[in-house]
Parts: sequence; C-alpha cells; structure tokens
Amino acid sequence: MFTVNAYAATSATEPLVPTTIERRSVGPHDVLIEIRYAGICHSDIHTARSEWGETTYPLVPGHEIAGIVTEVGSRVTRHAVGDRVGVGCMVDSCGECVNCRNGEEQFCVKGSTMTYGSVGKDGQPTQGGYSTHVVVTEDFVLKIPDGLDLDVAAPLLCAGITTYSPLRHWGAGPGKKVAVVGLGGLGHMAVKIAHAMGAEVTVLSQSLKKQEDGLRLGADHYHATSDPATFEKLAGTFDLIVNTVSAKIDLDAYLSLLAVGGAMVNVGAPADPLSLNVFSLIFGRRSFAGSLIGGIRETQEMLDFCAEHHLGAEIEVIPAQKINEAYERVLASDVRYRFVIDTATLS
Ligand code: NAP
Ligand code: ZN
Repeated sequence: MFTVNAYAATSATEPLVPTTIERRSVGPHDVLIEIRYAGICHSDIHTARSEWGETTYPLVPGHEIAGIVTEVGSRVTRHAVGDRVGVGCMVDSCGECVNCRNGEEQFCVKGSTMTYGSVGKDGQPTQGGYSTHVVVTEDFVLKIPDGLDLDVAAPLLCAGITTYSPLRHWGAGPGKKVAVVGLGGLGHMAVKIAHAMGAEVTVLSQSLKKQEDGLRLGADHYHATSDPATFEKLAGTFDLIVNTVSAKIDLDAYLSLLAVGGAMVNVGAPADPLSLNVFSLIFGRRSFAGSLIGGIRETQEMLDFCAEHHLGAEIEVIPAQKINEAYERVLASDVRYRFVIDTATLS
C-alpha cells in the first residue's frame, strides 16, 4: 500500500476537501498510473451528494482518468511503462459471466467494480480519479491513441463512451436524424460523435445560449426546448433521441418528436423516477430505452474512432482547489463543456 493525495467528499452536504488515500501495491496483473487529468462528470456530483442512494464516505470521485503508466506488474502484457492510458467508470468485473464474455462488463452479472464507490476484489473500497495515482488491473486500462492529448481525452472515458455506445447500438449514421437533449458534458460529445458517424444532428437545449457552440461542434440544427413551438415544429421527426439531461424532463413531450419506429434512449440518470404515458409509445411503435457506459472493447473502439476523427472534448482545465466551484457551475448548466482537473495541483 502507498499513500497518495486526493480530493474527497466527506458527506452529502459538505464541500470536497483535500485528503490522502491508500492505493494497493502493484500486483502481478496491475498497472500503476500517474494520473494527469480527471474529468468531472455529473455522476460524480450525484454520487458525492448521495442522490442515487446512500454513498459511503469518504468518497474520491472521478471516472474520466487519463495518465501515464509508471509501473507494471510482473504478468502484465498489454501495457508498458510510459504508455498513455485511460481508465473509465469500471476497474474490474467477474470476467466469466455471459456479459463479461461478450465484452459488456458494465452488465456483469455479479456486478462490475466501479472506479469509485464500489468494493474491489481485495475487499477495499474503490476510490476514483481526483487523485495523483491509481492502481488498476490491466484489462480495464485503455490505450489513449497518440492523436489525442491527455486533457481532452480524459472526458472520453465516460462522456465519450456513454454517448458512442447508444449511437452505435441504435445505428446513428448517414440518413438518420438524431437529436441530442442537453448540451453538457455528455451532450457535446454526443453531437460530435453523431456528426462524425454521418447522422443529421439536432441539439435540443433549454435555451439558445449555446447555439453557436452547438453548430460549431457539428449539429445541423439547434432548438430551444423552452419554446413550445419547438415541439410542434419537430413532431414525428427523429429516428433516435439521446437524452443526456441530469434532471426530470417531460418524456411524453420528447417521445412525440420520434418518427414511427424511433427510439429515445436515456443516458441521463436523474435521481427521481420518470413517468410516461404508454400511448406515447403505442402510437408510432416507439421505444424508450436506457444505456450504461459501454464495455472495455467498445471503449477502446470509441477512443480509436475519436482519434481518427480528431474528436477531443471541449474542456476547461481547473486546479483541484476549484472542484467545488466547478460542481456549482455544472449544476447551473454553466459548463463549456467539461471541467477537467489538472492533477498536478494535488501535489
Ligand atoms: P451535465 O454536463 O450537467 O449536462 C447535462 C445537461 O442537461 C445540462 O448541460 C443542460 O443542458 C441539461 N439540463 C440540466 N438540467 C436540466 C433541466 N432541469 N431541464 C432540462 N435540461 C437540463 O451532465 P453530464 O455529465 O453530461 O451528465 C448527464 C447525466 O448523464 C447525469 O445524470 C449523469 O449522471 C448521467 N450519466 C449517465 C451515464 C450512463 O452510463 N448512463 C454515464 C455518465 C453520466 P442545456 O443547458 O443544453 O439544456
Ligand atoms: Zn460519468
């Protein structure tokens, strides 16, 4: 075990504070990563504030990790000292169940080990990327392609894969009309990726404040959902709607925007249950679905796709001392479009 600097939430209501945590010694299959950048995902805030159920404190959030390998275990074959690597939302899974064997470790029957807020195979609580180092079993460490800088790559490890996976699964591509609801961390990556896949992309944001950005990021159209005319104009339009909103929205209103056979996929994970009128689905044979990050193989595929298409996140790099301020700005939808912690400021 060794001690590293970190930032932790100590309760649902207190600001995060500097602290130290223990990392396990590097085992035969482990990789030690010096973390350079850690993105701030809205899930970090939901968890730090116990919005999804009681969190165990202290909690070090952070599951958008980019860094450099500084040590590898004796049996490690996939990574070497000096490699540029990333870690996303998961750090382990059983590896044997049907879903793990299919490369969908996020649906591990025994429950995957999440990067923070889980208990690892060693019986210790996992702690995330708001820290200087992390030790991860090699199969859950991703390679960051040379074409991507580490700071803009970090958010891809959650925001990138969480939007790439449903866009691929539901066939975003040429001839498909895709709407992205919410232009935040996930939303802005959904726009970039859907555009790169060849789809016709529409942003549905609360206001027109970010219209210029949305179009620059690759959207073909941009509408404000605060304007009731948006819902009249766009009725029956989309093949796929990806909802990234972290709060409750009126699902029936958005489902009415789907074409016949269209699907609305929720990746946004508000604490409160969402309700819908089944007639919103019945008329038009529409589907409402959810999607959870993506498997390790698909995460590597997403990183390679983003490198090939020069898609990094739009980021604001902050020192660790500004994490609490950044949380407030995320909650106020004032993020352009991902905060990324420079972990050198933890030392
Ligand atoms: P974010 O950066 O805060 O973006 C959410 C966006 O939703 C905001 O920028 C805002 O966009 C819009 N929004 C916020 N409050 C709203 C409201 N009351 N009504 C309508 N629109 C609202 O958050 P994020 O990091 O992208 O995460 C989004 C959600 O996805 C969170 O719930 C997070 O936990 C979840 N998530 C899920 C997965 C998964 O695997 N399923 C993975 C990661 C994150 P506009 O200003 O453009 O309207
Ligand atoms: Zn996340």
